[in-house]
Amino acid sequence: MDKNLLKELQSFLKIDQIITDKSSIQVYQRDGLSGYSGIPGMVLLPESENDIVKIVKICCKYNTPVVTRGAGTGLSGGAVPTDGSIVLSTSRLNKILKVNPEQRTAVVQPGVRNIVISEKAKEFNLFYAPDPSSQIACSIGGNVAENSGGVHCLKYGLTLHNVVNVRAVDCEGSVIDLGLDSFDFPGLDLLSLIVGSEGMLAVITEITVRLLPRPCSAKVIMASFNAVEDAANAVAGIISEGIVPAGLEMMDGGMVQAVEDFVHAGYDTEAAAILLCESDGMAAEVDEEIDLMVGTLKKFGASKCLVSANDHQRDLFWSGRKNAFPASGRLSPDYYCIDGTIPRKKVGAMLREIERMEEFYNLRCINVFHAGDGNLHPLILFDSSKPGEFEKTEKFGEEILDLCVKFGGTITGEHGVGLEKLGSMCVQFTEEERNTFSAVKLAFDKNNLFNPGKVIPILSRCVEKGRKHVHKDNREFKEIPSF
Ligand SMILES: Cc1cc2nc3c(=O)[nH]c(=O)nc-3n(C[C@H](O)[C@H](O)[C@H](O)COP(=O)(O)OP(=O)(O)OC[C@H]3O[C@@H](n4cnc5c(N)ncnc54)[C@H](O)[C@@H]3O)c2cc1C
Repeated sequence: MDKNLLKELQSFLKIDQIITDKSSIQVYQRDGLSGYSGIPGMVLLPESENDIVKIVKICCKYNTPVVTRGAGTGLSGGAVPTDGSIVLSTSRLNKILKVNPEQRTAVVQPGVRNIVISEKAKEFNLFYAPDPSSQIACSIGGNVAENSGGVHCLKYGLTLHNVVNVRAVDCEGSVIDLGLDSFDFPGLDLLSLIVGSEGMLAVITEITVRLLPRPCSAKVIMASFNAVEDAANAVAGIISEGIVPAGLEMMDGGMVQAVEDFVHAGYDTEAAAILLCESDGMAAEVDEEIDLMVGTLKKFGASKCLVSANDHQRDLFWSGRKNAFPASGRLSPDYYCIDGTIPRKKVGAMLREIERMEEFYNLRCINVFHAGDGNLHPLILFDSSKPGEFEKTEKFGEEILDLCVKFGGTITGEHGVGLEKLGSMCVQFTEEERNTFSAVKLAFDKNNLFNPGKVIPILSRCVEKGRKHVHKDNREFKEIPSF
């Protein structure tokens, strides 16, 4: 790392804000995704937006890439450092600056953990809706950068739908303020562009989130099925009846067993699949919706429907789902979580294909879904210490994502593209579409300073890896009759 660059940083950062020693740097080499790592030149711990402005200006001057890092729980390699880059960690920017109960908003720094926002908002009988299963650890800045989801996003929307304003530092060190506290935004909607931009366009320094009134009542049904297909059909059945559950999650038998052994949530380990269906709102409304959903679940073949009797049991049912990933971590040295979407009616077909792939690759896969959103999380269990097993796992994952595109879905539902899905981007998008992404990146970051090498594959990568755009096969639009 350039000595002059370090000298300039030392002129305004304290000694404990700069990490250069090799052993401490190791902590920042990877994120939550197995198999990818990089060695940064140094790690910086800014304590204010002003620190970030100065750091970015210096990195720009010395042409040193900046990889912004929240809590490092990302599952697509987004926060994995490019070798020699500067990792800019937001861990010290962890204050809730203001809660405004009249406007139902909170202004927070990017390093605030997701769950802390709802804990604070509870004092005002409010909550922040997007709740990734990593919410005890992940940062709101990371959530905005990934447009994260969670079990309650079916009803309440993703991060994008729950953020009203973002402040960020651009590649020249200027502060940009995106969004307005109103329903419409004059001009181009740059707030929507920055949400989900995976650290590629700017460093997010402050976020205003929307808060919602806490529901008076909530209950969850745990429904057991003897066939995975029946569970998948029940999901489509509930949605097509016009019900919008507060959560609609599915786990296959392998995942149910793993979770039950870990959390003891009271799950039915005899079932081939279980669904968790939540209703929230006014008490009478919840009871009515729960009855409706139980009727539909039984119609589609549920063998048992257990409704949570109190908040403790409801929390227990959800704790099982929220611990699906750590539970899987107990089954094998490594797991690889795939994150694709498909139309709900294709869930059964996808699971059959995954079974076939398990045999072909000789690797076990257990499944958890944000079923209401059609967002799949197959977890492939593997052992990275066995030669060639990671590469085989990657191929397995790529094949699942290719199929998602073929079925009319997408290569990511909420975890982002990062490093992991660069090849799959060649399958999802045409060359022209990828060029448009590059043009947007260039418009924000003309020196390619922020998170280089992520999200947008260069053409030669698609050619080298033989990854070609696939046309969806579910275009079922019928011609609109003319009258
Ligand atoms: C057990 C487990 C469960 C999970 N469950 C879910 C889930 O239910 N739903 C879901 O959507 N995800 C889930 N995730 C994935 C992950 O937690 C989310 O993607 C989360 O939003 C990442 O936040 P982070 O603070 O850890 O970000 P990091 O991993 O540190 O970074 C992620 C990306 O955001 C960028 N970034 C971070 N902060 C900023 C900033 N201030 N400005 C600009 N760019 C920034 C980084 O450069 C990187 O590209 C899960 C992960 C784990 C390990």
